[in-house]
Amino acid sequence: MPIDATEPYDPNNIFARILRDEIPADIVYEDGWAVAFRDINPQAPTHILVVPRGPYVSWDDFSERASDEELAGFVRAVGRVARENGFVVPGYRLLANTGPHGGQEVPHLHVHLFAGQPLGPMLA
Ligand code: 5GP
Repeated sequence: MPIDATEPYDPNNIFARILRDEIPADIVYEDGWAVAFRDINPQAPTHILVVPRGPYVSWDDFSERASDEELAGFVRAVGRVARENGFVVPGYRLLANTGPHGGQEVPHLHVHLFAGQPLGPMLA
């Protein structure tokens, strides 16, 4: 069910619970700003979700409320996940679904990182 990108943050959403180690995830990267783990239903040979540690519902919420430090830390973390996994040269795709038209389902900001094959002009 797509969510409203402006709804209040739900501290019990599934990614908040992964951040608190309450439910398992295949974590591939973590630092002080972000955690990255494999998507449970991958749409490409590599499909990783990168989430900020802070409580942000959506890209809209994060870009509006996060501090400059958090913004920079998160953006650098996304870049590092791609670099450390060797995706820079073959290339990769980032996607942040936002709100109902974007098809966002989990109400904690996440950037999808797709890699591992030519991805074509768009992912459906
Ligand atoms: P959205 O549609 O919100 O942009 O994407 C949510 C993503 O989270 C989907 O690709 C979905 O497969 C993934 N997902 C949903 N629940 C879980 C979970 O419990 N663990 C992991 N690793 N991924 C999940």
